[in-house]
Amino acid sequence: MSGQPIFNRLALIGVGLIGSSIARAARAQGAVRAITATARSAATRRRVAELGIADQVVETNAAAVEGADLVIVCIPVGACGPVAAEIGMHLAPDAVVSDVGSVKSAVVRDMAPHLPDRVHFVPAHPVAGTENSGPDAGFAELFVNRWCILTPPPGAQPAAVERLAAFWRLLGANVETMTPEHHDLVLGITSHLPHLIAYTIVGTADELAQVTRSEVLQFSAGGFRDFTRIAASDPTMWRDVFLANKDAVLEMLGRFNEDLSMLTRAIRRGDGDTLFEQFTRTRAIRRGIVDIGQDSPAPDFGRPHPGLPHAPLPRPYAAED
Ligand code: NAP
Repeated sequence: MSGQPIFNRLALIGVGLIGSSIARAARAQGAVRAITATARSAATRRRVAELGIADQVVETNAAAVEGADLVIVCIPVGACGPVAAEIGMHLAPDAVVSDVGSVKSAVVRDMAPHLPDRVHFVPAHPVAGTENSGPDAGFAELFVNRWCILTPPPGAQPAAVERLAAFWRLLGANVETMTPEHHDLVLGITSHLPHLIAYTIVGTADELAQVTRSEVLQFSAGGFRDFTRIAASDPTMWRDVFLANKDAVLEMLGRFNEDLSMLTRAIRRGDGDTLFEQFTRTRAIRRGIVDIGQDSPAPDFGRPHPGLPHAPLPRPYAAED
């Protein structure tokens, strides 16, 4: 616990991986005085109550936001508009209303019309995650040393933006501000396209007739394994991401297809120089990511072999999104 609480009452709508991590981290850091949570299903609400990660678990979104000075909507992006319509008239004056959606333009488009002028809408996206879902999957350290991107609309009150930034910093995140459109382009290449590629390659391997399924699993450390982790991400969340960030993803996909064609041609022509040049460039990018602390250089060998003297080094969770 450190410092003074930044908000009095936090309302969390949706308590999956991200919502439950916010609850745990906000409590661990004393970022808020109290937490009220709600989720769509009775099963999740019950589990949140059992876990004891909120002070109060209520049945409806409207009840959750009553008296809250910070509201964070932590649900799939496709559901944000209807939820904003539900809570709009129940929001307290001067409340900061935010979200955690992986796409920002569509969330702003869908939520903003339902929010009254008396509140401060500051959309956000913590660029941190794992392939797991639900309230049990969250943990307080998820946001430590990860980026949280805020996309305040023009005219947003600077004090409200700064208050939300301070909240995320207290949870361990670094905070960056940009427009929703720029966010969607950046995340299109750093997160959405890699997920699409992972979903594709894992599906392709699954359908290959000449390689048996057991061989794919057995030899997965040849690179496939890393794709399977990403491709295990929540299908609802990712369906919504691709529907909501269609333009940016199609733009990135077009460029990717061009580059893939270039490498295909190099392989067909036996053009080793082109391949070597490209792989050298990408290796430098990987080293840059390790240098700025966004991943660990530690090797990840999976489950230790009984004959090996050392267990693999622990790896931090990969920042996803
Ligand atoms: P999650 O673990 O699957 O939890 C989703 C939560 O949203 C659950 O509480 C669920 O309620 C609720 N929900 C699902 N559909 C809903 C609907 N139609 N209406 C109202 N509530 C609904 O998901 P998550 O990983 O926390 O993701 C939540 C948000 O965070 C998404 O917008 C995602 O883009 C963003 N995000 C995800 C990651 C990541 O790596 N996972 C990282 C950064 C941001 P029930 O349990 O009752 O069904």
